[in-house]
Amino acid sequence: MKKFLALLLAVAMMAFAFAGCGKKENITITEGTLTMGTNATFPPYEYTDENGDIIGIDAEIAAAVAEELGLKLEIKDMEFDSLIPAVQAGSIDIAFAGMTVTDERKESVDFSDTYAKGVQVIIVPEDSKIASPDDLVGKKIGVQTGTTGDIYCTDDFGQENVKQFNNGALAVTALTQGQVDCVIIDNEPAKNFVKSNEGLKILETSYADEDYAAAVSKENNELLKKVNEAMKTLKDNGKIDEIVSKYIKAE
Ligand code: GLN
Repeated sequence: MKKFLALLLAVAMMAFAFAGCGKKENITITEGTLTMGTNATFPPYEYTDENGDIIGIDAEIAAAVAEELGLKLEIKDMEFDSLIPAVQAGSIDIAFAGMTVTDERKESVDFSDTYAKGVQVIIVPEDSKIASPDDLVGKKIGVQTGTTGDIYCTDDFGQENVKQFNNGALAVTALTQGQVDCVIIDNEPAKNFVKSNEGLKILETSYADEDYAAAVSKENNELLKKVNEAMKTLKDNGKIDEIVSKYIKAE
């Protein structure tokens, strides 16, 4: 009888083991969903349309990646400097936010392959005497909190010369009101902000060149691998180019 029970137990254990093999591993925080974090104040990468929906290059690339992975996309809007902590805490699976790859951020998160180039540019009033980054010494520089513009300017010109804003639009409004002498921000949002505010221009000489990528938890290599595979497919089949050229018109 004892032998029979042991045999039964062994068979039951094997059955469990097989069931385990067949089960699809869940690589996202909510099964069947890719939860993306962003800061939707960054046109044309992420912003809200008239219905309050989050649209833009990142939102569409993330949707295409999710589709490749057979997942539904959910977008959570938050402050830019909350994104990396949210990835680390596991409250989002991935951050897509025109986020620049930096060595310092790589200590906290893993980055996907890059999918776009960014340039930190300088916005000034049309009649400004500032003509290049060399003229920024001692000037009041407006930035978005926690962005590379903020980090680099604080290093180069000192914290006392850098004024932080919650988003780029607020920094640009402060510039139009003379509260800061310039704003340093990524080129594509800069073009949008200059277009929607009179009397501003972008300097020809840029401040820094960078690469954008999505950020994933260091503990989720499986998701990172799948995201990179999906991005490769979307680069190869022209989908990423198609999304980018929908939002960024050639000049
Ligand atoms: N590219 C910049 C950074 O990563 C700004 C991104 C943003 O404001 N969404 O810091």
